[in-house]
Amino acid sequence: AKNSCITRPCAMPFVTAFFMPRTKGDRPQVVPEHVSNFAFLGQFAETVRDTIFTTEYSVRTAMEAVYQLLDVERGVPEVWGSVYDVRELLKAT
Ligand SMILES: Cc1cc2nc3c(=O)[nH]c(=O)nc-3n(C[C@H](O)[C@H](O)[C@H](O)COP(=O)(O)OP(=O)(O)OC[C@H]3O[C@@H](n4cnc5c(N)ncnc54)[C@H](O)[C@@H]3O)c2cc1C
Repeated sequence: AKNSCITRPCAMPFVTAFFMPRTKGDRPQVVPEHVSNFAFLGQFAETVRDTIFTTEYSVRTAMEAVYQLLDVERGVPEVWGSVYDVRELLKAT
């Protein structure tokens, strides 16, 4: 590695922002309580269990918003609960 690798560090502020510390309550719910005509979409809105960074997260927030605001009886696709699955944890280890 010492002889053959070239490293070019670069800053990627748009992606770093995703990984800033977050705590419960610092991002709005997709459809905040008592709201009926607007929603927050994308990486900086809060949705349960999912992990930010993926396009799936953004799509999930959009589905959640549309289904909730328009009273559509459809479930948002489940997030794979790998964090609670011993097989996945062992594989990762
Ligand atoms: C370097 C990098 C690598 C990534 N790699 C992956 C990957 O491998 N897999 C993966 O799943 N995800 C990846 N992502 C994340 C993924 O790209 C984003 O999560 C996704 O694109 C977010 O989609 P979005 O539609 O919510 O928001 P965006 O794609 O950010 O769209 C928001 C849009 O709103 C527009 N906008 C902003 N303000 C206004 C305004 N005031 N008026 C009008 N328009 C406005 C912006 O111009 C933009 O077009 C990566 C992201 C980055 C930065």
